[in-house]
Amino acid sequence: MSVTTRIEWTDATWNPVTGCTEVSEGCNHCYAKTFAERWRGSVGHYFASGFDVRLRRDKLALPLHWQRPRRIFVNSMSDLFHKDVPDSYIASVFAMMAACPQHTFQLLTKRPGRMRALLGDDGFAARAMDESLVIKPIAMGAKPHGDIWPLPHVWVGVSVENQRWADIRIPTLLGTCAAVRWVSAEPLLGPVDLSTWLGDGFGPDGAPLGWRSALDWVVAGGESGHGARPMHPDWVRSLRDQCARTRVPFLFKQWGAWAPESVCASTTGAATARYLDFDGSTRPAARGARGDAVKEIR
Ligand code: SF4
Repeated sequence: MSVTTRIEWTDATWNPVTGCTEVSEGCNHCYAKTFAERWRGSVGHYFASGFDVRLRRDKLALPLHWQRPRRIFVNSMSDLFHKDVPDSYIASVFAMMAACPQHTFQLLTKRPGRMRALLGDDGFAARAMDESLVIKPIAMGAKPHGDIWPLPHVWVGVSVENQRWADIRIPTLLGTCAAVRWVSAEPLLGPVDLSTWLGDGFGPDGAPLGWRSALDWVVAGGESGHGARPMHPDWVRSLRDQCARTRVPFLFKQWGAWAPESVCASTTGAATARYLDFDGSTRPAARGARGDAVKEIR
């Protein structure tokens, strides 16, 4: 698989696993599935088995050979915590990350329950760290993190597409043994209130309270591709403002296939304008108020 990526928040992708199954409405237009299924049955192709879960052992050591520090998105073509990926294999992935402290690894899952269970398990951690010490000699100078757990250069995150899944996945994320915790609200399919989990760690007088925000980073974006569902501009504005108020880093990744009229009017003469309600329903813009209309970018 390609190592370079157009994903704005990372430098490279690493796929020691490919394939997955859908878990929630955020998966409906999974780009990885669309890509992989295109090749199902093509004899000799890397994705001849489509989006079936496959352990890609030949890719495990890839980050060892990258000397220049990179931000690496782990499993852009899968979910590492899928039930068909054995615990021992996930431990090997963590061992490789432990052996590559020059990089920053960015994990994202829609299965935080299993992630929390594994990362909080002493046996799992010991297995990963022991394995990393075996890997070390071929790491060409890279020093494993020894007995540091959680790994400081591994960011673990959850995808949340709406409030329902935020309420389920974020508390589980916060109970996970991790150094950095983040949220990807993409594709954003509804309004999300993160206030329960955001905080700047400062009191009203500006004095430090001795704790930091439960979340370290929030990314948001709209959906792309065929049949993409529109994102209300106010949903993403709200996330931006919530993060700004609490000094949590926020990245607006993209509008996706739909954008406010004001953003795309000059470039989308053939675009179809729709009025998007705050609940996500749409109707022809002519029958709705202007200003919150969105256009599909073709
Ligand atoms: S969890 Fe991720 S990789 Fe798996 S089907 Fe859903 S969007 Fe695709």
